[in-house]
Amino acid sequence: MDFRLSDEQIEWRDLCHRFAVEVMRPVAADYDRSQEVPWPVIGEARKWKLSGLDWIQKMATDNDGLDGIIYQEELNWGCAGLALAIGASSLAVAGIASSGTPDQIAKWIPECMGIGDDIKLGAYAVTEAGAGSDVASLRTTAKRDGDEWVLNGTKVFISNGGIADVTVVVATVDPKLGHRGQASFVVPKDAPGISQGKKEDKLGIRASQTAEVVLEDCRIPLDNLLGGLDKLEKKLERARSGESTGRQSGALATFEMTRPLVGAGALGIARAAYEWTMEHLEDKSEGGTPVLELQRYQQVLADVATEIESARLLVWRAAWMGRAGLPMTGGQGSMSKLKAGDVAMWATTTLMDLVGDYSQTTECPLEKWFRDAKIFQIFEGTAQVQRLVISRMQREEIQGRLKAAAEAVQQPVAA
Ligand SMILES: Cc1cc2nc3c(=O)[nH]c(=O)nc-3n(C[C@H](O)[C@H](O)[C@H](O)COP(=O)(O)OP(=O)(O)OC[C@H]3O[C@@H](n4cnc5c(N)ncnc54)[C@H](O)[C@@H]3O)c2cc1C
Repeated sequence: MDFRLSDEQIEWRDLCHRFAVEVMRPVAADYDRSQEVPWPVIGEARKWKLSGLDWIQKMATDNDGLDGIIYQEELNWGCAGLALAIGASSLAVAGIASSGTPDQIAKWIPECMGIGDDIKLGAYAVTEAGAGSDVASLRTTAKRDGDEWVLNGTKVFISNGGIADVTVVVATVDPKLGHRGQASFVVPKDAPGISQGKKEDKLGIRASQTAEVVLEDCRIPLDNLLGGLDKLEKKLERARSGESTGRQSGALATFEMTRPLVGAGALGIARAAYEWTMEHLEDKSEGGTPVLELQRYQQVLADVATEIESARLLVWRAAWMGRAGLPMTGGQGSMSKLKAGDVAMWATTTLMDLVGDYSQTTECPLEKWFRDAKIFQIFEGTAQVQRLVISRMQREEIQGRLKAAAEAVQQPVAA
């Protein structure tokens, strides 16, 4: 086992960190206040090849699965809101890549990112009021009308909602079939009937636009159904006949692979808060702080550092398993996101306690990291839902192991 980063990974980490220091940190507080879309930062990320097709290619050819993790930790160290503004289009890209035909992938992925200096954005719209964790109960409908699909419904809390050039919408074609009656549709921004609803005024990650996406008799061509009509009809037929498709376990496996990336973002915030607090307390101690007070600081800082390291190990392991094609049947991906999200929230709170009253002012950067941390316990599966997934996967894995062991005992021993 070797936990060291390669020279290339160190070079990549340094590039991402330099971007965070030079481009993100100087403007993070301004965008946090104004909640404007940070177009200049998104543009700079493209110039640095930290977004767009170059970046997708780098992620696709990452041998150990760590490049994406390093990128997320460093950019979220810079500013979690700006990091999501730069990266939210990749949610749409992932939706297209996982469900689209090769022709759809070639056509629509560039439309989610743009090519060269031409910046485009994508959004991935699943959540509705009353259907967040419980995605089986989506109410947005897609009905076929001749050569078109007609979409109706309202998506809420959508990153890049209303400003995306392409929105991938998950809608139900047959509500009776729950998640098996759903499909994904590509909706370009000029499609008739799509509009932006309320833009959210958020607690944290305020540089990333979050808004409702309203679909009122929104018409799109038949070809915009990801995966195509034949595939959908077969899937619906199987669902109606009660035959298992294995789709849900496929979706779960995909989530296990994407969750470490979100966990890495949470780690970036926790690390930023930890590093800042350490320096702040050192500066404060220069005038002479009593030994007992210094030891109290050290106790807390050591706990925070240890928690960050443990979360990072879970994140790295899950990312490596995902890239190596090892099934995360024990919920390792969910564990990594759960732990990192909880560590970010706990660390920012604990460090604020240590710093004291100054941490309650907007002058103190801990205040922003504390607000930014919360979302990591909510999106991409809430902390509570991660626990359900982990406990179910653990139970299945342990029962499987015990059953195999019991069967092995019953086998006659070879002579
Ligand atoms: C800033 C931001 C950006 C987002 N970006 C996107 C995006 O780009 N695209 C998108 O589709 N969505 C997005 N979302 C939505 C996000 O994915 C949902 O908020 C999340 O899935 C939780 O759903 P919910 O808010 O409806 O909460 P609910 O599912 O209603 O849950 C409410 C509470 O109940 C708990 N709970 C729910 N079910 C259970 C259970 N069975 N057992 C125990 N506890 C349970 C939850 O953990 C939570 O604490 C975003 C949200 C935010 C805040």
